[in-house]
Formats: sequence, structure tokens, C-alpha cells
Amino acid sequence: MLLLYRIGSGLWKLNDHKSILTAHINNAASFYCIGDIEEAFNSIDSYHEVCNKYGDEADWVNLYNILFLLYEFNKDNEKAKETLSKSIKLAKKLKKYNIVSNGYSNLSHVYIAEGNYVNALEMAKLGLEMAKLHKPETPILEVRVKLNLAKSYIGLEDLDASKSLIDEIIKAPFLDSFIREKSQCYDLQGTWYTKKKLYLEAYESFTYAKHLVEGYNDVNLLKTIQEKRCELCELLNDVHLGYIVQKEYIALLKEISDRKLSLAALKLDIKHSISAIEAKANVDYLTGIYNRNYLETTVNDWLEQASIKNETIICLALDIDNFKAINDEFGHLFGDEVIKQVSKSCSSILRENELIGRYGGDEFIVILKGVSLEVGKEKAKQIEENIRNLKITKDEKSITIQVSIGAADNSGGKVSSFQDLFHFADIALYKAKKGGKNQICVSE
Ligand code: GH3
Ligand code: MG
Repeated sequence: MLLLYRIGSGLWKLNDHKSILTAHINNAASFYCIGDIEEAFNSIDSYHEVCNKYGDEADWVNLYNILFLLYEFNKDNEKAKETLSKSIKLAKKLKKYNIVSNGYSNLSHVYIAEGNYVNALEMAKLGLEMAKLHKPETPILEVRVKLNLAKSYIGLEDLDASKSLIDEIIKAPFLDSFIREKSQCYDLQGTWYTKKKLYLEAYESFTYAKHLVEGYNDVNLLKTIQEKRCELCELLNDVHLGYIVQKEYIALLKEISDRKLSLAALKLDIKHSISAIEAKANVDYLTGIYNRNYLETTVNDWLEQASIKNETIICLALDIDNFKAINDEFGHLFGDEVIKQVSKSCSSILRENELIGRYGGDEFIVILKGVSLEVGKEKAKQIEENIRNLKITKDEKSITIQVSIGAADNSGGKVSSFQDLFHFADIALYKAKKGGKNQICVSE
């Protein structure tokens, strides 16, 4: 019975790390979106730390993908390329061809920014191959790569090859559902016409791209498009149009500066939500006491310190007796109430240097620092008595709760991990259950 439990709890622990990783990556993404790259890097550092300990390959791919965005934003092309290569390698191993294709597409994009159109073309071609491997078929993947392919051809002065790709993308029936890619395509068409010195057509393409971008309000892309429209008005020698576009451009600059002002407020908001997420990640949702993940991390630190300072750490593993029967007789909601009351009762007698957490289900853990196993046993008695005195009522019936407790210490510093310390307490708990429950056993 206890063994099955452990496997379940193991999964639970895994999920916990996943949720912490997700929280960190979401924070990084939020900071990235508001342009606070330094804070985004801080979140990534925290993600990295957790990933190092518990991450799987998919977690690493996520890390590389967000790191790429940050390096790209910082215009650190070398690091951006290095990160993309790692992402591509790992995603290939995981057969995630959409990520591989996007990776090559982004590599192509970096080479375009460097003016290295030969490499950009090569990467885009690889991206196209990979997009075709992705199942289910996702045509937008190919569009993203083809945009870079077309840009590379413009850079290499192969305007015919570029034009046929642009036309092909514009004709794609699904493009209306992908407004960002559609706007990028018209922006590229504008660049193509400018190269051909077809300034009126170029102006029209940029105007349509601008209209599309306004739909999703990417002010940075809008700014580059408006700059190109201003230049074209000069090339077209149209003073009146130039005046109108300049006015639009100035209004946009004002909007960007207003946004920068509201950024400080937004940053505070995000910081606040981070501490809320972090707090949540450490706490058991039902009882509000620490969860297993927090206990594990903290107790590992305590044990490390204790072995240096020759200090004793005690672990009490506590499990409610016959809890299933309570659930069966009174229902799960009432069972939840019992778990809450037991947790409250234990917490109320803990002092400084004492921790309580829920291991899962009806099992709790209490950790004491700097006291002997004898004192630990006294504490266990006190806990057990408090719980026995609890009166929890349902339908005018009052029930009494009994618990079994196993106690273990860190054996003069020999036990150095939470896992091991808990294991010894759990063996003692098992003995208490086997011996008839409602009792305390100490590990030998
Ligand atoms: P024992 O005396 O040997 O401890 O037996 P037990 O009946 O208490 O059973 P055990 O500790 O092995 O299992 C605990 C049960 O608690 C299993 C599960 O159905 C139930 N449980 C787990 N989590 C929750 C929860 O969050 N709320 C409620 N109400 N029940 C839970
Ligand atoms: Mg139980």
C-alpha cells in the first residue's frame, strides 16, 4: 500500500519541477515581451538551475528557444547561432521537426542580419526540408522558411527567384489565418519592389503591410515599415503624402515612448506575479503548508549544513490511520477537511527551526533541527495527542483521528539527503502501522 503511494508521489514531484520550469520560462517570456532583457536572463538563469537538476531533453529545447530570442534581441549573433544549433541538434534527436525547421529558419534570419546571404540561403533550404518532415503537415512552417529564402535571394540579387517565392506565399489560401506572416510577406514584397525601383508599388505593399501590422500592434515592426514609407515618399517626390506619413510616424514614436513609460509599472506587476508563482510552487494547494518539493530542497540544504556543524536533524513521518475508511464513510470533501485540520494541528505546535509539509495524500512530514531523537519523540507524542484531541464533526457525529508516526535522525551527519532521511522515518512508520497503528516508532 505504501509502495504504490510512493510511485504516485514520485510523479507528483516530477510535475512540481515541471510547473516551476514553466513558471520561469513564462516569466522570461513576459520580460522579453516588455523588452526587459536583463530580467528575462535572470528568469532563464533560474530555469537553467532547475533544468540542470531535473530537466529532460524537451526542457532543454525550451531553454534554447527562449535564449535565442534574448540573444537576438541583444544582437549577440554568435551566441544566438550557437544556441540555435543546440536546439536544432536536440530537437532532431527528439524528432520535433517543427522546432528543427523553425531553428533553421531563425538561423537563416540571423545570417540575413549579418549580410551573409549564402549561409542564410543554405539554412533556409534545410529548414524547408525539415518542415516537410513534420507531421501533421503544417504549411505555415514552410511559409516562415520561404520568407527567409526569399530575403536571401534578394540579398544575393536573384530577384526572379525571390519574386516567385513571394508570389507563391501571397497566393497561399491559408495565409489569411496567419496575419503576422502575411504582413511580413507584404513587407518583403515592398522591399522587392524598391529593389526594382518600382516605388509606387513598393509604397502600396508597405501600406498594406502597415495596415496588417496595426491589427496586432507590433510597434517595432510598424516603426521599420513607417521609415520605409517615409523614404519612398521622398523617392516619389510626393511632398503632400510625405507630410501625412511623417505625421503618422511621429504619432507612432510618441506611442512607443508612452509605452516605455508604462513599462516600469508593468515590470512591477510581473515581479509581483513571479513571487506569487514562486510561493505557490512551494505550497500544498489543500493545506497551505509546504509541499514535498520545497521540503526536499530545504532539507537537503539543512542536512548539508548539519553535517558541517555536526548538528542533528530529525524527520517525523506521520500518516493518518484508516483514512480510507473516513473517506468512504463521510465522503472525500470531509476527508479533505480532516487533512486540513490535521495539518493545522501539527503546524500550531511548531517553532522556529521546525518545518512541516505534506508529502502527499494523508502523509505529513515534520522536520526538526538541533534536537536529539529523544526530544523528537516527545514532539511526536505531543503532535499525536493534539490530533487525538481534535473533534471533527459531521452530521452531528464527532470523529476522532488517530495517526502513526515514524521518527529518524541523520545519524550524526551520515544521512545527507532528504530521500534517505525520509526513507528511514518511513521504515519506522511502516513498523508503527504493522504494530497495530496509533503509535510512534523510532528508526534504529
Ligand atoms: P493506513 O492506516 O495504513 O494509513 O491506511 P489508510 O486507510 O489511511 O490508507 P493510506 O494511508 O494508504 O491511503 C490514504 C488514502 O487517502 C488513499 C487516497 O484515497 C486518499 N487520499 C489521497 N489524497 C487525498 C486527498 O487529497 N483528499 C482525500 N479526501 N483523500 C485523499
Ligand atoms: Mg493512512
